[in-house]
Order: sequence, then C-alpha cells, then structure tokens
Amino acid sequence: MYQKLKIIIKFILPQGIANRVENLFRKLYSLFYSGNKVYCTICQKHFSKFIVLENGDQLCPACGSLPRHRRLWLIINEENKINNDDVMLHFSPEKCITQKLKKLYEEKYHTTDYDTKTNTKFHFDITNIAAKEATYTYMICYHVLEHIENDMQAMKELYRILKPQGKIVIQTPFKEGAIYENAEVKTKQDRLKHFGQDDHVRIYSVDGLKKRLESVGFNVALKQYENEKNNFYGFKKQETIFICEK
Ligand SMILES: [Zn+2]
Repeated sequence: MYQKLKIIIKFILPQGIANRVENLFRKLYSLFYSGNKVYCTICQKHFSKFIVLENGDQLCPACGSLPRHRRLWLIINEENKINNDDVMLHFSPEKCITQKLKKLYEEKYHTTDYDTKTNTKFHFDITNIAAKEATYTYMICYHVLEHIENDMQAMKELYRILKPQGKIVIQTPFKEGAIYENAEVKTKQDRLKHFGQDDHVRIYSVDGLKKRLESVGFNVALKQYENEKNNFYGFKKQETIFICEK
C-alpha cells in the first residue's frame, strides 16, 4: 500500500514537489502507526510497527529510514568524532541521515552523488575524485561500490582522499563464496537477473571485498550483526559493515 501510494506521488508530481509531498504524506501515514513497540534510531520516535516493504525491509513511517540506515546512524554516533579541522564526506547520502548530519556538522559535512540531478554539495566521480589527498577524516560509502565498474580505482581514490587515521564506513549487498562478476552481463535486464539490480555490476562477498580494500592499503575491521529477536529497531536481517582505517 505504502509503496503503491509513493509510486503514484512520484509519477504525477515533479521531483522537487514530490519530495516535499512525500514528507507530508509520511507524517500523515505515521499517524496510523502510533504506539510503543518499535523505535527509530534516526527520528527517535516510537511506533506500533514499521511499514513492511515487499522485500521484507522495515521502513520508518516518519523519516523513511531503512534498517541499514538506522544501524548506520548508531555506528556514526559510536565511531565518529568530528573535531576542529575535520571534514566528513557522505557518498550517495540517505535523506533521513543527511538532514541530521547537516544540522550537527553544518559546513564540516559534505555530500556527493554522481547523479547531477541530486541536491548534493559535490558530484564526484568516485574513480577520479576532485579533492586533494587526505582531505576527509570520516567518510560514508554505503551501497555505492557495487555500481562501479572499476571498483579498484574507486577504492584507491577513497584511500587517497582519506586522512591518515581517518575512517570510512562501507557497505554493499553480499553473497556467500567469492565475488561474482561477469564481463558478458551488460544490459539492464541481465544485470537485474545476475546481480539483483539493473544498475549493479557485481555481487561482493564479505571476504572478497575485504581483500580488495586491504590491497589498496586500508586496515579493515568487520562489524557483523545477527538478526534482532524482539524487532524493536526493525533489524530483522543479518548485516555486515566494514570500518576501514588509513
Ligand atoms: Zn524514523
């Protein structure tokens, strides 16, 4: 129901207006979810339940966060200590998190998206980033690398622009075994079939991504989370997150 209404809003309205209407629509929608059984770490509100999407992910009725965003928010708060000269860079930022980080860090928080239609500070090409070496202290790169054909070059660039002792939080979808890549898979249709999304170019394995990140110089630590039993935060699926240090 929620997804259908959202599609209709996006279809009938121009993007800027649709985004504003979506926020209002979600506020109204969240009224039907009042209660105390679940909690969103980002908007810090309780609800009777989350909105369950077709793939089983649980969406916050108020801020629209997915489980991986709510977990990321906890990690940012755990890991991130932005001091005087520090600057943070967020690739393909999630709206619900961006709004909070902008308020918190103002000019010290930079956003970037390759898509020039998005409202980010920069539109960096991750394989050739227009930033000086050792610019950023903390970076977030969630669900980006699986879209990049030359991912090794992207990782080298991430390493280059990170300050020594700086950290980057990385996540992609994963599979068991080895990384799956296939040079013959080029069309949207084939990518959907082989990689699970029509703009993905591979499926990483945890071990495979770890080795690639280490090969460009990162010290990689894994955070692995089991599914939560009482579903208070809506963390129903297992999750693996990479914390990489220079
Ligand atoms: Zn929320």
